[in-house]
Amino acid sequence: MTSLRSSLRNLVSAVLDLLYPNFCGVCGSFLFRDHYFVACKECWEENFTPYIGEKCSICGHPLEFLPGAPGICKRCLEKKRTFNFDSVSYFTLYQGLPEFAVKEMKFSRLKPVAHLIGKTISSHFLTAVKSLNVDLVIPVPVSAETLKERGFNQTEEILNSVGINYILLLEKPFTPKKQSTLSFKERSENVRGVFKVKIEFKMELFGKSVLLFDDVFTTGATANEIAGLLKRYGARKVHVYTVCYTPFLGSARM
Ligand SMILES: [Zn+2]
Ligand SMILES: [Zn+2]
Repeated sequence: MTSLRSSLRNLVSAVLDLLYPNFCGVCGSFLFRDHYFVACKECWEENFTPYIGEKCSICGHPLEFLPGAPGICKRCLEKKRTFNFDSVSYFTLYQGLPEFAVKEMKFSRLKPVAHLIGKTISSHFLTAVKSLNVDLVIPVPVSAETLKERGFNQTEEILNSVGINYILLLEKPFTPKKQSTLSFKERSENVRGVFKVKIEFKMELFGKSVLLFDDVFTTGATANEIAGLLKRYGARKVHVYTVCYTPFLGSARM
């Protein structure tokens, strides 16, 4: 019975592959059955890998792109930048396959990609949680409007596959305007007051060390806004972990 069911499943999946062919976003090969949705297994393993270069101790920026002083990037050094969060960790840079995979997950609504990302970052993420000694893991929420459109919150789905307990302590009552073309200052204004601590959890944060989890770190405006909110509710430390970090490569709008 089990083998009949599994043969049927294989047949259905083979027919679906023929009707809706998928190709690897890196090498172009046909993705067959248990494929990785956006890339073949070989390309995924070769391209979705941890960034191991040195990072700015203030904003997390990869130092090779923006060298300043030892351990500090040029922008943090020159502008004497400070943030509400205490540290920024991330798995990889927002370029190439990781950028393609995150965009496909969110904008083509591919939930299985979230699970694949979760499995890929799992040991890196769990090591960060352990070394930062955090009490709570909090995913960045999406608004009801985005949830309806996408069908899932990618940060929760990724954490489900990482295999860690987390708390849905935040809510996002509305969606601000599109952020992609805004600078840090404009984004900060855009996200001000957008997130709320759910009333039932308002005593939960006092004295806690918290890890805020998001899929992409762009200018840091969202993380900074939420870290400020969590600290107003008594969080002692707010560390940030994102799947991808967007390196600043010379655009004027940061
Ligand atoms: Zn490939
Ligand atoms: Zn920096």
